[in-house]
Amino acid sequence: MRKKIVVGNWKMNKTVAEASELASAILEHLGNSTLLCEVGIAPAFPALTEVGKVIGSSDIRLAAQNCHYEDDGAYTGEISVRMLESLGCAYVIIGHSERRQYFGETNRTVNLRVRKALAEGMQVIMCVGETLEEREGGITDKIVTEQVREGLKDVGDLGGVVLAYEPVWAIGTGKTATPEQAEEVHASIRATISDMFGESAAGNLRIQYGGSVKPSNAVELFAMPNIDGGLIGGASLKAEDFVAIVKAA
Ligand code: PGA
Repeated sequence: MRKKIVVGNWKMNKTVAEASELASAILEHLGNSTLLCEVGIAPAFPALTEVGKVIGSSDIRLAAQNCHYEDDGAYTGEISVRMLESLGCAYVIIGHSERRQYFGETNRTVNLRVRKALAEGMQVIMCVGETLEEREGGITDKIVTEQVREGLKDVGDLGGVVLAYEPVWAIGTGKTATPEQAEEVHASIRATISDMFGESAAGNLRIQYGGSVKPSNAVELFAMPNIDGGLIGGASLKAEDFVAIVKAA
C-alpha cells in the first residue's frame, strides 16, 4: 500500500506574516486528527523559516518550490539544496510547469536538479504534464513519457522521489482532469517507471495528481488506483479547503 501524499504549493503568494498565519490555521483545522496520509506545505522561500517554526514538530513536512543544481557560488537569485536543508525542508518541488513555462526549465535542467536534491538527501516532487495543445494534438503520452524518462535519467534509486502529474490546462483554470483522464496518464507513468526501474519500484512510487483539486473533487480523484494524493495550488491557500482535501486522502 502506498501512503498518499498531499502537498500545498503556495506559489508566489503570502508574505511571511500571512504564511505563518495560514500554517497556524492549517494546524488548527487538522486538530488532533491522526494523519493517515503524508502532508506537506510549500511556502515561498522567504517564509520557509517562519512556517518551519509554526509547524515545528507536527507531522506536516516543509517543502520548497524549487532549488538550484549547483552547490554554491556565483548564481545570483538562486537557492541551493543545502540552504533548503538548513531551513528544515524535507521536500523540494522540481520542474513545476510554471518553472518550465516562464523560467526556461527543461527536462535536462529538471534532471540536474532532481539528481542534486537526491544526492543531498532531500526528497523530490518532480512535476510532469502536457499543455492543452499537446493534449489536443494527441501527444500527451509521448510528452509525459519523455518528461519522466529525461527527468529521472541516471537517477539510481527512486526512494526519495514522488511524481506529480499536472496537466498544464488544468492548473489554476478550474478545469480538472476527470478521474478517468488522470488515471489513464498515471497508469502510463507507472508503466514507464516499471520499464526504467522495475516493477517493485513502480509499485512503490507515489504519483500525485495536480490541477484544480478542490474539496469537491478530491475524493473521486484520490480513489483512483494509481492516484496517490495531490499537489494543491489555489485550494491550499485556504486552510479549510486544504484540510478538507487532506482528509479526502
Ligand atoms: P491549482 O495548482 O491547484 O491551483 O490548479 C496546482 C499546482 O500548480 O500545483
